[in-house]
Formats: sequence, structure tokens, C-alpha cells
Amino acid sequence: KALCTAGILVGLLAFFWRDTFDPDSISGARVLLTGASAGIGEQMAYHYSRFGAEIVLTARRETLLQKVTEKCLQLGAKKVFYIQADMSSPQAPEKVVQFALQKLGGLDHLVLNHIGRTPFQMWDGDVEHTRWLMQVNFLSYVALASAALPILAESKGSLIVVSSLTGKISTPFTVSYSATKFALDGFFSSLRHELAMQKQDVCITLCILGLIDTEMALEKTRDKVYMSAYPAAEAALTIIKGGATRAREVFYPWWLELLCHVRDWFPDQRDVVIQSFYNYTSA
Ligand code: NDP
Repeated sequence: KALCTAGILVGLLAFFWRDTFDPDSISGARVLLTGASAGIGEQMAYHYSRFGAEIVLTARRETLLQKVTEKCLQLGAKKVFYIQADMSSPQAPEKVVQFALQKLGGLDHLVLNHIGRTPFQMWDGDVEHTRWLMQVNFLSYVALASAALPILAESKGSLIVVSSLTGKISTPFTVSYSATKFALDGFFSSLRHELAMQKQDVCITLCILGLIDTEMALEKTRDKVYMSAYPAAEAALTIIKGGATRAREVFYPWWLELLCHVRDWFPDQRDVVIQSFYNYTSA
């Protein structure tokens, strides 16, 4: 009897966690991807290419964008273009979306992924840096989404927003970064309501990531956190699948979802546990 119950449970779990992703849904899809010169964005560019997408890549470093573009073509992308842009400039989002529209003739997926450089340390009271980071990590996302929404509404497309566990549960050493990620959740989760109420068929997928092994993240967290990092290529694929299956939120690694569910149960104990993962003396 116990064996039978366990079998049913496993069957139910497999049913709810089954992979509904259809790679053909990405073939020929028109994608605008930000933060595509390195890290998770670069890995997403390669996955989209393997699925045969048409892609516009953007970031600041042109030499890296050129290299990523070449590799995307080798991997099977139908079309690849890049545009150099600095998202700290308020004019950049509109320029980038217009470029993508002109090159691809429309848009099916907008992937907002870039982040500005920020120190991993105790907050030093630098309000100007927080203001700048809000522009790069939050306001530019708002402006990119605003410029692309009418185009995504036409294609019944997907707006994919890359966030972090620190945008759901606050953590030390990331004060300004965490604020920008919480702001993304507030803005895009609220916007999701409004799109539904207006019967606009644009899906918003918020992606909650844990520590990922990108060069930048490893360099910043080395000797400062007691956590292991997860692979960027797998994080990238999870994000793409989430957008393609029109998921509301995706979590990578998967167990972050459980953490978010119990987030508010024991706040004092939770904070003590979180702080124990950080090495303060060498920060
Ligand atoms: P990286 O630092 O590796 O890459 C950031 C990308 O953003 C690069 O392509 C960079 O290119 C671009 N970028 C930086 N500044 C600007 C700017 N001012 N204007 C335009 N583009 C810019 O980041 P990750 O790949 O690690 O992170 C990707 C996403 O995943 C982010 O949203 C991040 O918050 C999220 N995430 C990452 C985690 C991790 O541990 N790695 C954990 C949780 C979430 P360039 O310098 O050429 O402009």
C-alpha cells in the first residue's frame, strides 16, 4: 500500500513538474536581449541561437558583442544583430527597441537582463550610486518595456525580467542592488495585473535566480559568502523556457520557490540564518 501511495505521489509530481517547453516555439522567434555580452545574457544568446531564433543583442562592450554575434551565427541563429548601448543613458532604451524593430520587423520576446556594476559590501551611504543603479537596473527596464509593449501586444509576446532572490528576500552587501530588484517585482507584477485587466495577451515572466557562476558574481562574492554557485548555462535555459511557456515566475535553482513561500514565517530566525551565510570580517 505504501509503495502504491509513493508511486502515485511520484506520478503527480512528475505531472506537475513536466517540461512543457516546445523548442519549436522559439524557432524563428524575434528576440531582443539585453546584457548579452557576458554572463547569463551571453549564455541565453547561445541557447536562443541553437533554437533558431532571430536576435538583437545589446550591451556596452562592442568587441564582446561582435564575438557573441559570430558564435550565435555558428550555433544556428537565423539572424543576429547587435547594438552598443549604455542603459545609464535615458535615451538608450527607445533607441535599442527602434533598432530591434527595424532589423527584425517585430518582437516576440523582450529579455531584460543587464545590470550595472555595483560593489558587494556594506552600504557606504553613496546615494548617487544608488540613483545611478536605479537608472540602469530599474528605470531602463521600465523604459524598454514601455517602448516594446505595443509591439509585444501585436505578437502576443513575452516580456522576461531577470531578477534575483535578493529581489524577494533581502540580504546583506547588496543594499542598492536589492532595492532595484524589489522595484522590478513591484512594477512588473503590478503591470501584469493591468495587462490582464485590459485583456492584453502579453505575458510577464519574472525570473528569480540564486548565486550563478558568472565571472562577475564569483569575483564579487569570493571569500564573502558561504554558498555554492549554479551554472550560468542552466540558469539561461531555465529563463528561456519560462518565457516560452509563459510562466508567471521561474526560480533557479528550483528550491528558491520554497524559500520564497516560507519567507515571512519566522522573520527573526530567518535573518540570523541569512547573516550566517556572509563573512563580515573580510567584507
Ligand atoms: P554580468 O555582470 O555577468 O553581465 C551583465 C551584463 O550587463 C553584461 O553583458 C554587461 O555588458 C551588461 N551591462 C553592464 N552595465 C551596463 C550598462 N550600463 N548598460 C548596458 N548594459 C550593461 O551579470 P550576470 O550575467 O551575472 O547577471 C545577469 C542577470 O542575472 C542580472 O539581471 C542579475 O541581476 C541576475 N542575477 C545574477 C546572479 C548571479 O549570481 N550571477 C544572481 C541573481 C540574479 P557590458 O559591460 O558590455 O555593458
